Amino acid sequence: MPVRATKRGAARVPFPHGADADVLICGASFAGLTVARVLRSTGARVLVLDRYEVGERQTSACAAPTEWLRNLGLEASIRQTFDSLLVHTPGIERARWALPFSFSTFDYRQLCALLFDQRGEAEFETAKVEGRTGNTVRTDRGDVRAPLIVDALGWRRVLGPGDNFQPPDGPLSRGLEVHPSGVGDDLELWIDPRYVDAGYGWSFPARDELRIGVGSFDPHDPVKQPTLRLLEDVAAEPHGYQGNWIPHRIRPATEDGVFFAGDSAGHCLPLTAEGIRTAFYFGIAVGRELRAVLEGRQDRAQALKRYHAFSGSHRWKYEAIYLSQQSIRHLHGRPLDTLTRIFTRPRVSNWTFRHYLDIAPPQFAVPAPPAAVRTAREVAA
Ligand SMILES: Cc1cc2nc3c(=O)[nH]c(=O)nc-3n(C[C@H](O)[C@H](O)[C@H](O)COP(=O)(O)OP(=O)(O)OC[C@H]3O[C@@H](n4cnc5c(N)ncnc54)[C@H](O)[C@@H]3O)c2cc1C
Repeated sequence: MPVRATKRGAARVPFPHGADADVLICGASFAGLTVARVLRSTGARVLVLDRYEVGERQTSACAAPTEWLRNLGLEASIRQTFDSLLVHTPGIERARWALPFSFSTFDYRQLCALLFDQRGEAEFETAKVEGRTGNTVRTDRGDVRAPLIVDALGWRRVLGPGDNFQPPDGPLSRGLEVHPSGVGDDLELWIDPRYVDAGYGWSFPARDELRIGVGSFDPHDPVKQPTLRLLEDVAAEPHGYQGNWIPHRIRPATEDGVFFAGDSAGHCLPLTAEGIRTAFYFGIAVGRELRAVLEGRQDRAQALKRYHAFSGSHRWKYEAIYLSQQSIRHLHGRPLDTLTRIFTRPRVSNWTFRHYLDIAPPQFAVPAPPAAVRTAREVAA
């Protein structure tokens, strides 16, 4: 578990002269830590940067398919597991959708620590990443040069060329949640214009706390008042706000020689705002391509091309989900209730959710490569 708080002020010393790396991974959350995990035992100098200590800042409700967590060796971070969704609409008090696989809520700090433990020799430093020129990344602690650079910094896509979106303009959703103490048995969703027109509210229990929030697919819609309304309705206290922008359109996964994974590439799934397993999935894909470069099986240009094509091959699925996301704001009244009821049929929910899981299937995760065996000379040094 990380015990230090992020270094600030005088403690934030400049990098030693020539802070170079073979691979520079910017961002130490779901996507970035997964890339580092795949590069374990390559013998390369892998440097991971984040402006906060690993696991310090949770930004999501932290629910993911259980099988993904298990396959990545992260099951110790699981807090609660669910095999159905309880859905509420204005016309239906309770509709239960059975799931063909389970979701688990987890402890963010613990999950990051477990993932970080699988990184092997990769080094970690806290630094705010400010921009990039060619293969040089500028940070508040100085420059770092690396031939292989990964942007896993989230929606801001800091290392992309040109300007990024400026919220609320851009293909972004927004989410806000609170974490009151409490217990619950169900993953609950509210599809209800009383809270939000284009989006949904949720309550995800995590053993002794509830993660309750509202997300909107329209970045102009405020989410604070809707979150407070939902809290009032479920008789919970506003405690521990957290929120973020969520990119809801897939973007090029490589640009100007940089690899993008997770939210920086718009890999979060548009309708559900599920972006943790896809950050794992595309993090693994980047890691595999970089590993092949480090092992001399391909060059950087081939890695960029292959990863770009891999991510691009998912575009049509993302676009299809994006279209359903855009149409949900028109789904009210009887059509919404009818659809909600249809999903209570196990055949329908099994088929749909199975296909949904297959967009980024848990079988993609395999155990981390074994730790490097150090030579006698390295041990002596
Ligand atoms: C309220 C809310 C609830 C959500 N709930 C869920 C959920 O239950 N399940 C799910 O699957 N998805 C959920 N999501 C979406 C999910 O959080 C994201 O898709 C996911 O976090 C993306 O992972 P990532 O590693 O790409 O980016 P992030 O998790 O955003 O990580 C980016 C990392 O980069 C660091 N960073 C950013 N900028 C800089 C900088 N300039 N310099 C240095 N470091 C920097 C950050 O500190 C962070 O560690 C939710 C989102 C929100 C907003």
